[in-house]
Amino acid sequence: KKRTFSGIQPSGDIHLGNYLGAIRNWVRTQTEYDNIYCIVDLHAITLPIDPQELRQNIRRLAAIYLACGLDTRYCKLFVQSHVRQHAEASWILGCFTPMGWLNRMTQFKAKAGENQETVGAGIYMYPVLMACDILLYQTHLVPVGEDQRQHLELTRDLAQRFNHLYKQEVFTIPEPLIREVGARIMSLTDPTQKMSKTNPNPNSRINLLDDPKTIKQKIARATTDSLRLIRFDPERPGINNLLTIYEALTERSREEIEAEFEGKGYGELKARLTEVVVATLEPIQRRYQEYMRDPAELEAILRAGADAVRPIAEATLQRMKDVIGLG
Ligand code: ATP
Ligand code: MG
Repeated sequence: KKRTFSGIQPSGDIHLGNYLGAIRNWVRTQTEYDNIYCIVDLHAITLPIDPQELRQNIRRLAAIYLACGLDTRYCKLFVQSHVRQHAEASWILGCFTPMGWLNRMTQFKAKAGENQETVGAGIYMYPVLMACDILLYQTHLVPVGEDQRQHLELTRDLAQRFNHLYKQEVFTIPEPLIREVGARIMSLTDPTQKMSKTNPNPNSRINLLDDPKTIKQKIARATTDSLRLIRFDPERPGINNLLTIYEALTERSREEIEAEFEGKGYGELKARLTEVVVATLEPIQRRYQEYMRDPAELEAILRAGADAVRPIAEATLQRMKDVIGLG
């Protein structure tokens, strides 16, 4: 079986973009592959975060993975910092990463924003750590959202360069697995930006744990335009985004959806979308509450996951060190 690896940062509330771009796809293909899914907490400290909140977020994310349907029979679930090899490999690979390659990464610039001088260096090194997460497990496929394409390209380049330098297949070269529908859900308040956990405006995203009333309000406030025509059109990012979410959740064709709303107003679209979002999240939230009631079980699952993947990571790290001449 081919191996998949992916992860989400416990940096805030998990939203519909994370679900449609990542988790839902992991669940759908879990029986086809040998899966490793991570809670990437070392990535979550690249921007300031309260310790209590980080600890909570890690547990919540574990419960969300399970509530969304990831099954420990098919997937190993673990917390990144429980497997020390990630941090160690990251230092090593960082020494083989040209600064120019990191300078080209757009996410670093977007996240550092105005604070280029004061932001921690971790945000700059982030793509190297992400490359190690993937490469340590000899991953074939990386199911992610569209925003991670550039980091994945870098991962491939770094792996190829390292293998070439030492004339050995130390790393498997991974491929991105980016689905057509749902790979880039946009912010509800600024549909030219992607939906993100770390956007300071809570109305910009629908969280998986939002109650129906909150969902209704957020969708009601979502940015649209004054054209009043309900069509998939990238030139009209607000409406396009609402329709894309509807498309991803209903799994109907664009023609059908446009026909459904022929001659109808934005109010109708927003009401239907609200219904569909609420109906999708309701069973997830119910299962989430069940998992959160048993912290000991969550801990046991994460511990077993880390114990299962550690030897894989260690074997790759050893090979890295061997070819370099370390140890
Ligand atoms: P942060 O603001 O902390 O970076 P994020 O929302 O970007 O949070 P990540 O933890 O960085 O979430 O990404 C987790 C996964 O979710 C990745 O596979 C990423 O590609 C996917 N993802 C994130 N945002 C979206 C989105 N708006 N649409 C589709 N997929 C997304
Ligand atoms: Mg992100």
